[in-house]
Amino acid sequence: MSENKTTGQQLSEELYYNTSNVWNKISDEESNQISSFSEDYKKFLDSSKTEREFVKEAEKLAKARGFVSIENIINSNTALKQGMKVYRVLKNKAIALAVIGSKPLEQGINLVGAHIDSPRLDLKPNPVYESRDMVFLKTHYYGGIKKYQWVTIPLSMHGIIIKKDGSSVEVVIGEDENDTVFTITDLLPHLAAGQMQKKMSEGITGEGLNILSGSIPYNDEKVKEKVKLNILKILNEKYGIVEEDFLSAEIEMVPAFKAKDVGFDKSMVGAYGQDDRVCAYTSLRSILDLENIERTAVCILTDKEEIGSMGNTGAQSSFLENFIADICALSLSKYTDIVLRRCIINSKMLSADVGAAIDPNYENVYDKLNSPFIGKGIVLVKYTGARGKSGSSDANAEFMGAVRKLFNDNSIVWQTGELGKVDEGGGGTVAQFMANMGMEVIDCGVAVLSMHSPFEVTSKADIYMAYKAYKTFLEKMK
Ligand code: MN
Ligand code: MN
Repeated sequence: MSENKTTGQQLSEELYYNTSNVWNKISDEESNQISSFSEDYKKFLDSSKTEREFVKEAEKLAKARGFVSIENIINSNTALKQGMKVYRVLKNKAIALAVIGSKPLEQGINLVGAHIDSPRLDLKPNPVYESRDMVFLKTHYYGGIKKYQWVTIPLSMHGIIIKKDGSSVEVVIGEDENDTVFTITDLLPHLAAGQMQKKMSEGITGEGLNILSGSIPYNDEKVKEKVKLNILKILNEKYGIVEEDFLSAEIEMVPAFKAKDVGFDKSMVGAYGQDDRVCAYTSLRSILDLENIERTAVCILTDKEEIGSMGNTGAQSSFLENFIADICALSLSKYTDIVLRRCIINSKMLSADVGAAIDPNYENVYDKLNSPFIGKGIVLVKYTGARGKSGSSDANAEFMGAVRKLFNDNSIVWQTGELGKVDEGGGGTVAQFMANMGMEVIDCGVAVLSMHSPFEVTSKADIYMAYKAYKTFLEKMK
């Protein structure tokens, strides 16, 4: 109908930057793919509420798709050849996967990387106490949470306990329909006059996040803390643990509810831990589906992002570099340090982490020209940071341009995004740590509503577009 358009209309179509809604851009076939992909995603979320569970599920999927442990390749002294698929699990909390391409490693590899830890409540090392014939577990929250969101919801318990004899026991309580759950109490409104006058950051305190865990006393007049004794007896019978075993444990309390469709049109997914499992799952799926690629592809899924990517399972660790070094060593007849360096410096990466979607209930903290919307595709974030981009690696315009072209050429619906208005706050991702290694990196992820809350919301269209974007990048980035 262009003959009906004025020259001004034509010119504006040519010159203006416009975002598109994914739902208007897709075929019926893609619409079916979106729903089947999100069903897989929801199932995966329900079985992967912690970094350890994510790694376990990811390893299962990888093995089923022909990936073999790189440790097996090392031990059997075989060489890595084009088309081979390998993975490494690091301390049960991080996983890296690779598909070997046809091009020399010196020319670089294509990577996607996401984090698989999420904000939650960790049990303190010595958590159990009794008060007023009730037993509670003390917690220390992990990552950035709004504490008031974590009271009066059902919580499940996930983790691992290393016992005195060195054996370990895994715990998952609260996920099966008939399981018991846990919760943190809050004050009734009738008596909350004082609490309600406090600032939101102080209405619920960190030391107040104590998990209600039992109320039946052990029937013996001679013992103190009868309810605590009864709870420890139950735990001892079920898991063979004593109180001291909590000191060598990692127990995470997370929302007990399952991933759900949201809205009359079921267009969105509501679930705990979508930061960053929405990007981690789509990254994982993208590498699982790769065949016959030129540049070697790597997917790296790390822990501890929510507390700064610290530690030997975080993105600041040597995990990625060592994994690439092993790939180089197993692929080349003669491994040298310079090959590894060249490989890294010529590599290109999408740092797959979520963006803060514009929330119409709180529009004033977002710059509407530069913040992402749900349903408008994958978000390319040139820089993150706070107070003048501080802490951001700020992707190079040339690389941003190359990714933009790749996405446009391959019908990836994408948008740009900053984390809210300047000086409103800020944040960072793992991009900076990989950028320090010398590779090109840009943040690229799914826009999320209610980020870091117990029930985060994403668009199914964006989830599918993320998968498509990561797969295209791994396959086709030159
Ligand atoms: Mn994140
Ligand atoms: Mn986060």
